[in-house]
Amino acid sequence: MEIEIATIGGYEEVGRQMTAVRAGEDVVIFDMGLNLSKVLIHDNVETERMHSLDLIDMGAIPDDRVMSDIEGDVQAIVPTHGHLDHIGAISKLAHRYNAPVVATPFTIELVKQQIQSEEKFGVNNDLIKMEPGETTEIGDSGNVQMEFVNVTHSIIDAINPVLHTPEGAIVYGLDKRMDHTPVLGDPIDMERFREIGREGNGVLAYIEDCTNAGKKGRTPSEAVARRHLKDVLTSIEDYDGGIVATTFSSHIARVKSLVEFAREIGRQPVLLGRSMEKYSGTAERLGFVDFPGDLGMYGHRKSVDRTFKRIMNEGKEDYLPVVTGHQGEPRAMLTRMGRGETPYELDEGDKVVFSARVIPEPTNEGQRYQSEKLLGMQGARIYDDIHVSGHLNSEGHYAMLDALEPQHIIPAHQDMKGFSPYVDLAARKGYQLGRDIHVSRNGNVMQLVD
Ligand SMILES: [Zn+2]
Repeated sequence: MEIEIATIGGYEEVGRQMTAVRAGEDVVIFDMGLNLSKVLIHDNVETERMHSLDLIDMGAIPDDRVMSDIEGDVQAIVPTHGHLDHIGAISKLAHRYNAPVVATPFTIELVKQQIQSEEKFGVNNDLIKMEPGETTEIGDSGNVQMEFVNVTHSIIDAINPVLHTPEGAIVYGLDKRMDHTPVLGDPIDMERFREIGREGNGVLAYIEDCTNAGKKGRTPSEAVARRHLKDVLTSIEDYDGGIVATTFSSHIARVKSLVEFAREIGRQPVLLGRSMEKYSGTAERLGFVDFPGDLGMYGHRKSVDRTFKRIMNEGKEDYLPVVTGHQGEPRAMLTRMGRGETPYELDEGDKVVFSARVIPEPTNEGQRYQSEKLLGMQGARIYDDIHVSGHLNSEGHYAMLDALEPQHIIPAHQDMKGFSPYVDLAARKGYQLGRDIHVSRNGNVMQLVD
């Protein structure tokens, strides 16, 4: 069976991930993501109304025109998890393919919301839910199946899809860390990865997220971030002024920890900001998390301002607002608080807890710096970096190669500089650049089996 892999987006940057795999007559597309930083760098760009070709020209979404060079029928579009760099282009590109979007329930719900807010294109692809651990037939040949292996990442319901072909398995490894004690959901299914590495013809190709390949050691579990957070909040338990926290809105496990520890230190948690309400509300509705019945979640400007006024009237010492703005995004809640644009007034000594790391990218770094300065000018004390990464460090990568023993490796989710530590690591395990480790670029098509 002919096997071809098209590296469409996310091979020269982090963001706008998209890869297509052809097995015989059948094609599966993995991820269709958005590079948000290419959008945010322009003032007031509203992607909802923009045409795909303009977004492609901006470098914001994958340039999928290379798909016309690929024979066969697209049978499924498979986003691995709900982060925007993996699902953010579905509303702009999926309608060009006569194929369903297949993903886990939480991811499908986020895709559905994104399609609903799309204003330019009518996207009518079927949305099919598939649970981690399940396998489905791809096409009519009877020779190709797709399996979802449960993985752990900084968002719930993440999987790594595996395409089983007569030539061996193709494992699409974006994005994960090895977490054996996640705060929400099941641990990573390493046992299944080890089986896949040894059954049938083994693993033909492994496409891997290289984000943290250059970092030594092992990425800590979410349980470590949870303990760190508890330590910080407990240490300020007796403070009788304002405490405000921020984290990734899509990081439901972290939001859950913040809500629980707020209660433990005698404060009422409240979630504020549009995306805070969107992700936590969705997770709760789908039964992924059990928040206290009286937890307030407010997204609209008016209800947020009303909540801030109530907090100011009743006393800041009784509340812990969990807000958007962990990267200093100009329009997010915490940044507005720093600029004094909300009814919440910060006083000298008030605490601001960043349960997030600055995404190492100049725009983020600049905005976060500015946000911290503004908060500091109002007297706020900053607790930052209370976080663990969602991506594998070098020893996790080493363990994955041990488990899968792939014949070919294709590094992804980075630029050329980011690939190099992964290539070095694979070389230590006997792989050779150009022979069985293939560094690609956006828009390449490689034939693995003719
Ligand atoms: Zn991700």
